[in-house]
Order: sequence, then C-alpha cells, then structure tokens
Amino acid sequence: MASLGPLGNGGRVAIIGGGPGGVGCALALRHLAAQSGRQIEITVLEGKQFAGERHHNLCAGVVSPPLPRLIEQDLGIPCPVHLRQGIITGYVLHTAREQILLEDERYPSHVLRRIQFDNYMLEAARQRGIRIIQARAVGIEFHADEVIVYSEAAPVAADVVVGAFGLDEGAAGVFQHAVGYRPPKALVSLLIRYYPGEQDMVRFDSKVHAYLIGPRGVEFGAITPKGDHVTINIAGMSINIEDMHAFLAAREVQALLPNLGRHEQEDPDALRIFKGHFPRSLARRYYADRFVMVGDAAGLVRAFKGKGVTSAVQTGIRAAETILQTGISAYAFATHYAAANRDITGDLNFGRAVRLMVLISARFGLLDPVVRAARRDPSVREALYGAVSAHESYRHVLSNIFRPHAIAAVLRALV
Ligand SMILES: Cc1cc2nc3c(=O)[nH]c(=O)nc-3n(C[C@H](O)[C@H](O)[C@H](O)COP(=O)(O)OP(=O)(O)OC[C@H]3O[C@@H](n4cnc5c(N)ncnc54)[C@H](O)[C@@H]3O)c2cc1C
Repeated sequence: MASLGPLGNGGRVAIIGGGPGGVGCALALRHLAAQSGRQIEITVLEGKQFAGERHHNLCAGVVSPPLPRLIEQDLGIPCPVHLRQGIITGYVLHTAREQILLEDERYPSHVLRRIQFDNYMLEAARQRGIRIIQARAVGIEFHADEVIVYSEAAPVAADVVVGAFGLDEGAAGVFQHAVGYRPPKALVSLLIRYYPGEQDMVRFDSKVHAYLIGPRGVEFGAITPKGDHVTINIAGMSINIEDMHAFLAAREVQALLPNLGRHEQEDPDALRIFKGHFPRSLARRYYADRFVMVGDAAGLVRAFKGKGVTSAVQTGIRAAETILQTGISAYAFATHYAAANRDITGDLNFGRAVRLMVLISARFGLLDPVVRAARRDPSVREALYGAVSAHESYRHVLSNIFRPHAIAAVLRALV
C-alpha cells in the first residue's frame, strides 16, 4: 500500500468544489508546497461558471476579519480590495419592541458580491498553475494507492481528495455512498436583492439591520447595505416564500424600506427570491484515509450565525497544512486537522445553547428586556455585539451574559 504520509514531490490532490473552501485549500497547498520546494499537482472541479456572473454561491457577501490576512499571508495572493462595495461599521439589532445600535470600530467588515469574489479566487488559482475543470464530480472510487474522481468531463486520479462542495446534495450522496459520510443538518435561508434608491440607502449608514422579530418560524432576518442595493435574508428550519413576504411586510422592515411594496407591484421581478442553506451541525465521517472535507461540507462553521466564507478559507488552509505536513490518513486528519479546528467545533455546543436561548426568549417576549439591559450594562451590550457580528465565540458571549451584574441588569429591565 502506498504511503499515507505527508504529500511529497509529484503528489496529486483533487478538490471537489471551487468555492472559498476549495480554492482556499488549493491556493494554500500551492503556497505551502512552494515554500518547501515540492511540486504537487492540484485539480479543482467546479460545476458552476462564475465568470460572466452566470451562476452564484448564495451569500449576503459580508466578509469579516481575519479573511484579508488569511488571503494575503496563507494563500499568497493580493486581497481583492477592488471588489469591495462598502464597509460595515456596526449592527442595528431589532427585537419585537426595541432596537439598539451595536458597534465596535476594531472589527470593520466588508461587503462584496460573492460571485465576483469566487471568480477572483478561481482565476488566481488558475494563474498559479492549478488545473480547473469546469464540471461536476459525479462519482468516487477509493483504492489502496489512489482515489478516482469521476466527473462530467475527464476522470481525475489523485492521492487525496478534498470535499469542498458546500451543502450540495448530489455531491453529499456520492460520499455517503462511498464512505458513509453524513452531511451537516441545515437551516433554510431565503435571500433577495433589492434596489431601494439612493434616498433609502442613506438611512443604512453602513450598518447591517438584524431582526429577531419573527414571524413564527423565521429565526432571524438581516438587511445588508451593499453600495447601491441591499440584500435581505431570513433563516429558519423550514421557511418558505410566504415567510419572506410576511417578513418584508413587518412594521420594522417597512420603516426602513418604505417603498418595498410599491416597487414589488411595479416590477414583480424586483424581488426574486433565492434559496440556500446554513449548516447547523458537524458532518459525520468528514475525513478518513485519503479524504477530508472543508467549509460547509464538513459543517465547520460558527453555529447559528457564522462567518461562513472566513471559516471555509480557514479550514481549507488547515486541510492543506495537514496534507503537506502530517499526512493523508484518517490518523493524520484526526490528530492535526480536527485538532486545529477545535476553535470551531469546541464552540458548537455553546452556539446551540445561545440559539435555544434566543428562540425561547423570542417566544416569551424576553428579548426586549435584554436589549433594554444592554443600553445600561456594557457586558450585555458586548454579548449582543459578539453574537450578532460573529466576532466573538459563543463561549465568550455566554460568559458575558451570565456575569452577576449582567443578570441583574436584565432582571431590572424585566420589571
Ligand atoms: C443566504 C445566505 C447568506 C450568507 N451570507 C454570508 C455572509 O454574508 N458572509 C459569510 O461569510 N457567509 C455567508 N453565508 C455562508 C457562506 O455562503 C458559506 O458558509 C460559504 O459559501 C461556504 O463555502 P464553501 O466553499 O464551503 O461552500 P460553497 O461556497 O457552497 O462552495 C461549494 C462549491 O462546490 C461546487 N460543487 C458542489 N457540488 C459539486 C460537484 N459535485 N462537483 C463540482 N463542484 C461542485 C458548487 O458549485 C460551489 O461552487 C451565507 C449563506 C447563505 C445561505
């Protein structure tokens, strides 16, 4: 049997999926291999065509630190500052009866169009000699000395396969059949892009509006300003188009976007709805001998409200480091890759606890007192900012909210 140790000269990697996880992994492999003087052959299979903006990966396009540093230092390519459509300096959190501005100037995020970002990354990979095959992977065979990935174009033989296919059900089925992989559980998310006009855009002042207001079934909603338009997205266990219309009709949303109904009547296409998913649990069997999964496919994102793009790139880099430094066996992925991802996996239970607390509090009208308490108590405010912006771990959010003075502030706000 061929070695399952670190990939040496002439080693071959096949990556299924050319989103941030897959291309992040490909570029990190190229960068790290060059540093250690190794020549490796990297192939990315991507089913969509990003150039010409024909297809897209669903996203509000908010990219948060440390993504710029990861791109420049670990992937070795320039950060695409020219793609930025704006900056996010804070969040306005709306609950049933209250709203609060949450900001921290240390953590500005940027907004961009995901399709343009994905296209930039894929082209950067192509320019660095990474083979890009525009075709879907449709089957996989594991052998003692190699893996064969079948695609709609040519088959690809490799020493190790990286699964970076997001929450694609077809690709998940291929791995489920071959190796017993189970994809993460997911929340449904619906998204629309809306051009409200210059006058209404001014009202946003570089702030994302986050809503914990229902309607029933909608766990959260967000309106993100992006230059000349906004993206509106909602998420829940099994939401549909009616939930989106109920959200758009909500008083708090109408107050911000008063012409929404008129525009929809004038041009029904103005509010086309797209559907996607967020992972809300870890995948099962997401690595073994000769394969590893990254990003959404592994469920390796911050629970409930995450920095999906940043986590995908981060886990892609960690997979590349494992492949080149430790090996391509189940043992190498367990000891190096899984251990490196403990910052994400170790926070999943805390994230679930926060999600449950928010759902129960929303049902019993307890979120309003929390917002009132946050106006007076810095720990409660920091907890809300950390949860909404995704800049803090949920462990940190909970430690702030369960401080005695924070609990006292919430209790005072209740009465
Ligand atoms: C509505 C919505 C809004 C979001 N907003 C944000 C946000 O503002 N900021 C943020 O950081 N995250 C956001 N996310 C999350 C973010 O989009 C994901 O976490 C991130 O895209 C995961 O990257 P990935 O590379 O793992 O997977 P993906 O981006 O899903 O990429 C997977 C790629 O694999 C390809 N693929 C799939 N199957 C195959 C196959 N069989 N063969 C070949 N190719 C295949 C797909 O075409 C796709 O290009 C949002 C998600 C949703 C649903």
